[in-house]
Amino acid sequence: MTTLIETRCKSFINRLNENLFTIRTYSIRLSGNPYAGCQFDCAYCYAPYVYRFNRNATPEEFGSKVFARVNAPQVLERELERGLSSGRLQREYVDLGTVTDAYQPAEARYGITRRCLEVFLRHEFPVTVLTKSTLVLRDLDLWQALAEKGLGVVGFTLTRPTTVPADVKNLLEPYSPGTGQLLDAIRTVVEAGIPTFVFVDPVVPFLTAEPALVQQLLAEIAATGNRKVFFGVLKLSPLTWSLFRRRLQEAQAPDLVSRFEELYIRRGVKEFGRSWVPPYEYREALYRLARDTCRELGIGFSCEGNFFHLWLDDWAEVEDPYRHPSGYNLWRAVRARRGEPVALAEVRARIADRFPVVSDQYFDTLESLWEAGKLFEEVQGVEFWRDDGRCGYVYTDGVSERRSEMSAPVPSTPLRTGPSLRSEQAPTEGEEDLPADEERVPAVAV
Ligand code: SF4
Repeated sequence: MTTLIETRCKSFINRLNENLFTIRTYSIRLSGNPYAGCQFDCAYCYAPYVYRFNRNATPEEFGSKVFARVNAPQVLERELERGLSSGRLQREYVDLGTVTDAYQPAEARYGITRRCLEVFLRHEFPVTVLTKSTLVLRDLDLWQALAEKGLGVVGFTLTRPTTVPADVKNLLEPYSPGTGQLLDAIRTVVEAGIPTFVFVDPVVPFLTAEPALVQQLLAEIAATGNRKVFFGVLKLSPLTWSLFRRRLQEAQAPDLVSRFEELYIRRGVKEFGRSWVPPYEYREALYRLARDTCRELGIGFSCEGNFFHLWLDDWAEVEDPYRHPSGYNLWRAVRARRGEPVALAEVRARIADRFPVVSDQYFDTLESLWEAGKLFEEVQGVEFWRDDGRCGYVYTDGVSERRSEMSAPVPSTPLRTGPSLRSEQAPTEGEEDLPADEERVPAVAV
C-alpha cells in the first residue's frame, strides 16, 4: 500500500558534480525526477540513499511513501526558457528518473512525466528515460516525436529472464511488471523507431547470475530487436545492504545473507569508495560470459566498472552532440596509441572536438584526475607515467613499450589502491520539502 503525497519543487533539473565517479562512469550530467520514492520498491534499489535526505520520510519508506512533484512541468518550463535564453543551459540529455521510476503506477494518475516530455519537445531539448514500466507505451507519440528530431532515447531495466521463478521475482522486484510484458514493451518501442537500450543491472549473485539465466535473458532481449545492452552486477552500499539484508531475512533466506556477506564484504572490494562489489575475478567471468553471449547474438555489449576491455562495439563512440564522453571514450583515446604515452592535451582536443556539451568544470576535473594519476585506477592494461613534470597514460596490455612522445617516462607510485575521491555525495538542489536528487545516471551512452 503506497501513500501518495503531492509536493511542489523549487527546481527540477539537477547537474551532477564532476569527479572520478562521474567522469569514469556517466555520459549524462543532467537529471530530473518527477517523483521521490518508487512504488516498484526493488530490494536492491540504491535510491533510498538519496531519499534518506527527505525530512518527511525514512529510507525504509522509499517504496510506500511516494512524493509526486506536481508542479515539475511548470518548473521545468521555466528552467528551460530561462536557461536557454540566458545561455546558462545548453542542449544536453536530461535523464528522467535517476532516483525514481518516472513511469511507476503513480504516473498513470498524475501524468507529470508526460507533461515534462511535452515541455522537452516544445523546447527541442534532449531527454532520456530508464524504466521498468510498460506505462512508457502511453507516451509513445511523444517519444516518437522526440526521436524524429534526434532528441529522445528510451531505456529499459531488465534483470531476469522469463524463466526465473516467481519467488525470486517477488524477492527482488515485487511490484514491477513481469519480464514478458517488458520484452513486449521493448519490441513496441523498437518498432516505433525510437532508439532504445536495455540496462541489465543488477545481475544478482546466487539469484539471477547463473550462466543459463544470463544467456537466456540476453537472447530474449536480442529477440525484441534492441541492439544495445549495458550489463552490471549488484552493488551494495552500506545502506543498500542493510535494506537488502532485511528483505532476505523476511524471505527466510539466512543462508543467502551469509553468502552475500562472504562474496561482497569479506571477499569483495569497495568500488569508488562507495559500494561493495564481488571480487574482480567474479565480475570478469560474469561480464565475459555476457559479452561472449552478446557477440553470438549480434548485439552490442558494455558493462560497468573497470572492464572497458570487454566492451563489444563502438556504440559509445557514436557521434552524439548531447552527451559527455564516458570513461570508455577516454580509454579508447589511450588505447588508440597502443604502447605510446598519451598526453592530456591530445585527449582534451579529441573531447573538445567531438563532445560540444562538456563544461570547463569537466576539463578542470579531468586535468586534476589525470595529473594525479587517478583517471584509470584499477583499469587493466593502462599505466600512468610521470617524468620531469610531464605525465600521461600508456596502454600496455599485450604490447611492447614504445615511447616516442615522451622521453623515458617512469612509473608513478603504484596505482592499484582504491579510488577515494568521494564516498557519498550530499544533495545539491534545494526544494521546499524534499532534498535534491543526485546521481545516478546509468552508465550508458545514448
Ligand atoms: S524501479 Fe528503479 S527506482 Fe524504482 S525501486 Fe526499482 S530500482 Fe529503485
